Amino acid sequence: MTKKRILILVGTTEGRHLAYQASQRSDIEAIASLAGRTRQPDPPIANTRFGGFGGVSGLRDYLQEQGIEALIDATHPFAAQISIHGVLAAREAGVPHLRLSRPPWSPQPGDRWLDVSSNAEAAERLPEVAQRVFLTIGRQELAKFASLQQLWFLMRMIDPPHEETPIPPGKILLARGPFSLDEERSLLQEYQIGAIVSKNSGGEATYAKLVAARELGIPVVMVQRPTMPEMETVSDINQVLDWLDCLVGMS
Ligand code: NAP
Repeated sequence: MTKKRILILVGTTEGRHLAYQASQRSDIEAIASLAGRTRQPDPPIANTRFGGFGGVSGLRDYLQEQGIEALIDATHPFAAQISIHGVLAAREAGVPHLRLSRPPWSPQPGDRWLDVSSNAEAAERLPEVAQRVFLTIGRQELAKFASLQQLWFLMRMIDPPHEETPIPPGKILLARGPFSLDEERSLLQEYQIGAIVSKNSGGEATYAKLVAARELGIPVVMVQRPTMPEMETVSDINQVLDWLDCLVGMS
């Protein structure tokens, strides 16, 4: 049987699991593409490439040169650039395209969310919300909060910020989810947090902080997802596997 050659743009836990599951199939040859920040994906993926393609044209050329027969975008909901490049490049190369994206969180009774469209807007609104802030947006956009010298921040991220990144006053906490409700509740209480800033990433691994905030009546400044062009999107791995079954069945 000739295997279908597919490219999976990976950038989330479910993306890594999808790439692993696809790599176990006898009817598919899956190549996993990572931006290059994580050197050892977990679970391990056999056929992996690292680093950018060089924009839409670079990705289109890669699809054509490598004989890719389907492109699956399993990157993070906030990684807008690669997702836009993916859908455009697939269109130009005439390759079927599917996006795997977790559903966003939605507010529950008792939640006190302030929706904002960007980290810059979150920084602008924060002084009217609280003095002590739990900042859970990762390390890439810390600089947006650096001018808020009158506030105090507990900043949680997986890897430390680059040395040259301007950061606001406070403490950096290096940690990787999932986080339990007990852990999140303790953190909020120990550091006397008055507000959380979060991206609406969705998923279970980092949801407990929102439950803890609800219990303690703490407001959450919630950064909404970037706008994406129309594209076929599913929310779980099984739907991608079904889509792949159809694709394989058609050949
Ligand atoms: P981005 O702004 O959408 O992408 C920036 C550039 O990085 C892209 O144009 C592309 O370079 C390259 N790139 C990104 N993902 C790639 C992949 N899977 N394979 C090959 N090249 C990739 O992305 P970002 O927000 O910097 O995030 C980088 C990676 O971290 C993504 O894969 C994302 O899924 C993951 N991540 C992001 C967040 C977040 O909040 N943004 C959170 C968790 C994980 P070229 O244009 O040169 O092809």
